[in-house]
Amino acid sequence: RKILLDIQNLEYSFDTYAGEVKAVRNVSFDVLKGDALAIVGESGCGKSVTMQAVLRLNPEPPGRFKAGRIIFDGKDISKYTEKQMQSIRGSEIGMIFQDPMTSLNPTMSIGKQIAEVIIKHQKLSRSKAIEKAKDMLDIVGIPNADKRINQYPHEFSGGMRQRAMIAIALACKPKLLIADEPTTALDVTIQAQILDLMKDLQREFNTSIIIITHDLGVVADIADRIIVMYAGKIIERGTAYEIFKNPQHPYTWGLLKSVPRLDAENKERLVPIIGTPPDLFAPPPGCPFAARCNYAMKICLEAPPEETEVSDTHKTSCWLKHPYAPSVESSMGKGG
Ligand code: SF4
Ligand code: MG
Repeated sequence: RKILLDIQNLEYSFDTYAGEVKAVRNVSFDVLKGDALAIVGESGCGKSVTMQAVLRLNPEPPGRFKAGRIIFDGKDISKYTEKQMQSIRGSEIGMIFQDPMTSLNPTMSIGKQIAEVIIKHQKLSRSKAIEKAKDMLDIVGIPNADKRINQYPHEFSGGMRQRAMIAIALACKPKLLIADEPTTALDVTIQAQILDLMKDLQREFNTSIIIITHDLGVVADIADRIIVMYAGKIIERGTAYEIFKNPQHPYTWGLLKSVPRLDAENKERLVPIIGTPPDLFAPPPGCPFAARCNYAMKICLEAPPEETEVSDTHKTSCWLKHPYAPSVESSMGKGG
């Protein structure tokens, strides 16, 4: 399958009075056409900033695009002007955020907001755009489109607002949909419904999806591939199957143990990862996870582990995978 988005050696920082915060450090990955990629990690790991850097969403300064190439649909958009970026955002690349209330306009009806997007990007007449907006409400599972179209965001529940956001994001048939913590603010049942909807729409429209989340459990069903980020770096990557069934990095083991499950039996075994991520003003010289890792060795404090190959699709950055490392029994292997 074809590559839609190819990010090569991305470095992104914020310049603050206290110094340079190295938020994204040499990150490379790609997204295939029609694929769903999840970027997972704790808050502050650089997962959101990576996608904000791709879309140039942060004011610069304090943001600073230091290095990297971003090839979207064959074009290097890291060289684009703000005006060129504006023509991509919301048309070729759609976005959904955690809190729809901050992205929806509270003074404009939902229908009008969807129609505006359609008019802007598809150059349709107002009446045609309103008809299309109704279709979009239908597609994202908002019933009574005729009535709903004239209602305002505050008249929608949290789940319905997120559906409306998805309708707006999909109204221009984007090639890529970026969803940053799209279900974090919602309760568990609604979360599952929204994720199902996204999966259905991804199949129906053959849209590529990047879903950013702190919660690995959320992406188990939706993601084809998963990237785990820590302290601005990718520390493990693989297919969803590889990450859930054969995780190789101690941080990923920790994330998996802290995943809330719907069944109560597992709930008792929830284990948070102790400690906090390193300071990104002065990232440690060795493995960024060393201070929190139960398996840390001397070399972990001295040199950063290179990415090693577990399979064609599965890679991890951990000294345990080095050919000369002492063997360690994976604590994830015990449960089954
Ligand atoms: Fe732990 Fe060392 Fe692997 Fe880092 S490189 S995750 S400190 S074992
Ligand atoms: Mg974030």
